[in-house]
Amino acid sequence: MGKPTGFMEYLREVADEVSPLDRIRNWDEFHLEMSPERLQTQGARCMDCGTPFCHTGTVISGMASGCPINNLIPEWNDLIYRGLWKEALDRLHKTNNFPEFTGRVCPAPCEGSCVLGITSPPVTIKNIEYSIAEKGWQEGWITPNPPEKRTGKKVAVIGSGPAGLAAAAQLNSAGHWVTVYERADRPGGLLMYGIPNMKLDKKAVVLRRLEVLEAEGVTFVCNTEVGKDLAAETLLNDYDAVVLCTGATRPRDLNVESRDLQGIHFAMDFLTENTKSVLAGSPTSDYISAASKDVVIIGGGDTGTDCVGTSIRHGCKSVTQLEIMPKPPESRATSNPWPEWPKVYRMDYGQEEAAAMFGDDPRVYTTTTTRFEGDEQGQIKAVHTVEIEWQRDENGRFSPQPIPGTEKVLPAQLVLLAIGFLGPEQPLLEALGLERDVRSNVKAEEGQYTTSLPGVFAAGDCRRGQSLVVWAFNEGRGAARECDRYLMGHTELP
Ligand SMILES: Cc1cc2nc3c(=O)[nH]c(=O)nc-3n(C[C@H](O)[C@H](O)[C@H](O)COP(=O)(O)OP(=O)(O)OC[C@H]3O[C@@H](n4cnc5c(N)ncnc54)[C@H](O)[C@@H]3O)c2cc1C
Ligand code: SF4
Repeated sequence: MGKPTGFMEYLREVADEVSPLDRIRNWDEFHLEMSPERLQTQGARCMDCGTPFCHTGTVISGMASGCPINNLIPEWNDLIYRGLWKEALDRLHKTNNFPEFTGRVCPAPCEGSCVLGITSPPVTIKNIEYSIAEKGWQEGWITPNPPEKRTGKKVAVIGSGPAGLAAAAQLNSAGHWVTVYERADRPGGLLMYGIPNMKLDKKAVVLRRLEVLEAEGVTFVCNTEVGKDLAAETLLNDYDAVVLCTGATRPRDLNVESRDLQGIHFAMDFLTENTKSVLAGSPTSDYISAASKDVVIIGGGDTGTDCVGTSIRHGCKSVTQLEIMPKPPESRATSNPWPEWPKVYRMDYGQEEAAAMFGDDPRVYTTTTTRFEGDEQGQIKAVHTVEIEWQRDENGRFSPQPIPGTEKVLPAQLVLLAIGFLGPEQPLLEALGLERDVRSNVKAEEGQYTTSLPGVFAAGDCRRGQSLVVWAFNEGRGAARECDRYLMGHTELP
């Protein structure tokens, strides 16, 4: 433990950010680096708890509590306090293949369960993780580290999101030849096309890591949809094992009147084409512009927030984000005690930017869409809404009930649907004849990752449903471990 009294002496500080009105002019990341001295002070706040809840990843009340990949947080907090950055990076890599990604995009369930958080603001764990990872890149400590020996076994990973990348990195480190198949034109899954560039830079951060993986011996085959461009049986015949990491990519639709109007899109179509255009330096043919439009985003979650930030950078006229759930409280409710993830009101980056541009948080709570309205050309013109109240039905379940007299009509020339995902796409799973669970996810027990087909493993959102990058890392690593055991009869992978 670096400084026994640090938590009493120092206040929590996080890294500065480029101001909202400046950062919306470009697609650059907006987090600024913190000086090593300030980080050292933040590391000193860690109490090195006997039972460090920050690193015990569990699920409580359906939410992650503590780090899902069991990062050795107290250890690296202490190492940072003592200025031992290289050692801190080694500890971080023991549990996390790609800390530069989680250091940027993880909501940090570790901080929600930090013991210091019971009485004071928690240790700034995410910021420290980010800084350790970036120091590793700047100092040239992160370089390709190919395995010394090859086993001669071949593994196909289908899908190159965080689960597929973690599985590939681990299996490659165990000496297997790994080929990752990806239907998109670039690898990365939602790290590439989903999370926008200002949150996670594609060239400077995602490609930088993909190049290291390639140099370590991982092969990426893009523009290839398994089950369509390449028969699933071919993979089963050509490889010793297969790891499915295809994500939960079926978007939830909103089937209300006039859904088929032009100008109503799924959030992912908007975000994907935007990132492709940012990378290309000019709009793609399928680019969806929010410029000069009144934008209504249906869904108050993180995907909706990314649509807010993206619409503002396009130069939208206004932006509204509709959320069916009530506004969360300012501090933990008694029904949401520590170490649960704190369900409290927060302004994320997109809402901060909207408030700076238009004067207010764009989220409108306990509100649902009743219908869309179009013009003579069949283009969306307005969204009709009503406020709702959550009431228990005769079965004791809560359901939204409209409140008469609260109807509104919002002008809209662009509507983005960001109301979640229904699970993995089914055709490939059907072609492989894999069992599914009740939510249509691939059936494979957590911790085992073995599907109903011997030699085929499943990890990430296609097994657990839409989740977080850090859970995808957890599952990709776990599936690699079980796959290695299947191939070799034993495993040394963690
Ligand atoms: C807009 C958005 C923003 C998000 N922001 C965050 C965030 O800030 N922080 C966070 O922790 N989580 C975030 N998430 C959630 C997180 O990105 C996912 O939980 C995570 O990416 C899941 O990883 P995965 O590898 O299982 O799947 P994915 O990342 O979805 O990757 C699956 C890949 O498989 C490919 N694929 C599918 N089928 C085939 C096939 N048949 N053949 C070849 N390739 C195929 C897909 O093209 C895709 O590239 C966000 C999600 C969205 C939608
Ligand atoms: S719970 Fe918080 S204070 Fe305790 S070891 Fe983890 S980071 Fe440090």
